Amino acid sequence: MEKIHDLIIIGAGPAGITAGIYAKNFGLDCLIVGEEAGGLLNGSYRVDNYPGVFDVTGEELVKKFKAHQEYLEVPLKKESVGEIKKDGEIFKVITTNKEYSTKSLILAFGTQVKKLKIKNSEKFENRGVYYQSGHNVFLFRNKTIAIVGGANSAVMKAIKFSEQAKKIYLIYRKDKLRADKIWVDKLTKPENVEVIYNTNVMEAGGQKELESIILDNGEELKIDSLFIEAGAMPNTVLIHELDIKTNELGYIEVNKCQGTNIEGVFAAGDITTGSNGFRQIITACSEGAIAALGALNYLHKK
Ligand SMILES: Cc1cc2nc3c(=O)[nH]c(=O)nc-3n(C[C@H](O)[C@H](O)[C@H](O)COP(=O)(O)OP(=O)(O)OC[C@H]3O[C@@H](n4cnc5c(N)ncnc54)[C@H](O)[C@@H]3O)c2cc1C
Repeated sequence: MEKIHDLIIIGAGPAGITAGIYAKNFGLDCLIVGEEAGGLLNGSYRVDNYPGVFDVTGEELVKKFKAHQEYLEVPLKKESVGEIKKDGEIFKVITTNKEYSTKSLILAFGTQVKKLKIKNSEKFENRGVYYQSGHNVFLFRNKTIAIVGGANSAVMKAIKFSEQAKKIYLIYRKDKLRADKIWVDKLTKPENVEVIYNTNVMEAGGQKELESIILDNGEELKIDSLFIEAGAMPNTVLIHELDIKTNELGYIEVNKCQGTNIEGVFAAGDITTGSNGFRQIITACSEGAIAALGALNYLHKK
């Protein structure tokens, strides 16, 4: 007979893993289905704002999250969900390999990178143009790189790469970086970082690989790589089938129990409108815990 889980959590980032930890402690038969344990956290250069754990890389913190999930034996399937369907009171979660059934759902599939309109940038994607991802800094030893963005991820990347790169241009469209002060202060130390304010990148150039960029002030910069850290937008593809309510930007609207407009469906982490829009590890974890409690209460009421 088909197995019906109490709860399926989609996404194995901080929100999804925390939801799994709480659901397991509540005694629910839960399953996490996620593409990559840790999610965005894997790309963090250094985490200094998660209580009890400091001066660690994102990858190191992910190892701790995973160890906790494995210690509690929370089942995790490393699969990508392609579709969610409602069949009466049961939800069907369809991945590339399998179909799972569940009485309740937590959507914790986070965000995806925002692409910028830079002429020819698609031509050089992964051949000099890269989006929000972790990279081995040693590959960029003595290289000249440009980073677009002014938030934590862009500033952290500039600090991290400054250890190996010859020159770094940090290009931001506004006149003041919006990263936390702790990172902006650290950025003033490396001498090979030049911050270019009030500027946008308009065009990418080169033969087979990226060789240069043109800025909106007309200047051309000769570079080896361009990293785009321009923020994120919600992953909304999966929610249309269920008619989940979102705000105008596509973030899932949640109530104080992390419930959505569909009974039995909860959402947590960067994908939601919760936590005053403050999308961090700690808020994702908090929303994951509250969503698990929401699912528990929902299942008890049934
Ligand atoms: C470079 C960088 C540095 C950061 N540094 C910090 C920091 O120092 N401190 C801090 O507090 N926050 C930091 N953040 C923010 C923090 O990483 C996020 O707020 C947090 O990861 C959000 O967790 P989440 O679980 O909601 O989503 P995510 O971490 O995005 O996880 C979502 C997961 O769902 C998976 N998924 C998506 N679609 C599907 C699907 N169809 N099927 C299955 N799985 C799917 C994704 O692959 C991913 O693994 C940083 C972010 C970045 C990008």
